[in-house]
Amino acid sequence: MNCESLRDSYELFVFGTLEGPEREEIAAHLQRACPECSAGVNRARVLATNLGSIAPPVDAPGHLRAHIMRAVVQATPRMHSFWESIFWRMAFPVSAAAALTLLLVVFGLGREIGSLNLELKTLQKSAADSRKREQVLVSRANAYRAALALMSARESREVRFGPGLKPNKQPDGRVYLNPKGLVMIASNFPAPPKGRTYELWLLRKSTKGAEPAGVFDPDASGGAMHVLARNINVNDIAALAVSDEPPGGVQERTGAIVMVVPVTGMTR
Ligand SMILES: [Zn+2]
Repeated sequence: MNCESLRDSYELFVFGTLEGPEREEIAAHLQRACPECSAGVNRARVLATNLGSIAPPVDAPGHLRAHIMRAVVQATPRMHSFWESIFWRMAFPVSAAAALTLLLVVFGLGREIGSLNLELKTLQKSAADSRKREQVLVSRANAYRAALALMSARESREVRFGPGLKPNKQPDGRVYLNPKGLVMIASNFPAPPKGRTYELWLLRKSTKGAEPAGVFDPDASGGAMHVLARNINVNDIAALAVSDEPPGGVQERTGAIVMVVPVTGMTR
């Protein structure tokens, strides 16, 4: 099980109410000092401590107390790892008041508990946000890696274009064509019309058709990098073209052509 799927179980783990494979998994993650699960369980333990200190000092009715104590006692005589047993001891100070606090926490009673849960949600959300950010960075790093591989491959053909003779700036850059894909690196791309994106097309020699080859957006300074990671028939490409299209791209061109780069005769 990965940390992601264990995330919602940290509190239950700390409170000792988690059963089955999840319990074993979290224990295993803690044992190998998994940073995410260790931090998560720590957070849950801090939460439990805070809850303990704000819970109203109510005396549990006798039968309830007995019930809770029995539950606690039944849950304890298992084999625990060193760390788990420490968490266990912290989560289970053996007194009736603490046991009642536990009960309150486990069933989410009390306004204070509600607000703390809210805070916990916020914490979890910001963790999810940073995970998302990390995913963006990872996929960008992967794109650079793929680009580098295609650019440096010996069988790749380099096609240069721009900047053109006209006074108005035209995109200029290079395209590296490889049987396994292509990379386009360009500068001076004007921003696409509002609500549109750029789509690259492969113009075929054989079919005279245009094959969609992915969408891209230039950055604020007009730079663009586009990687197409799929097999292409390099020898059948007569030209590359770029048009502006709706977000996500289309199968048949609808927008204005921004540039055309003939491939024949411009290879290295
Ligand atoms: Zn983990």
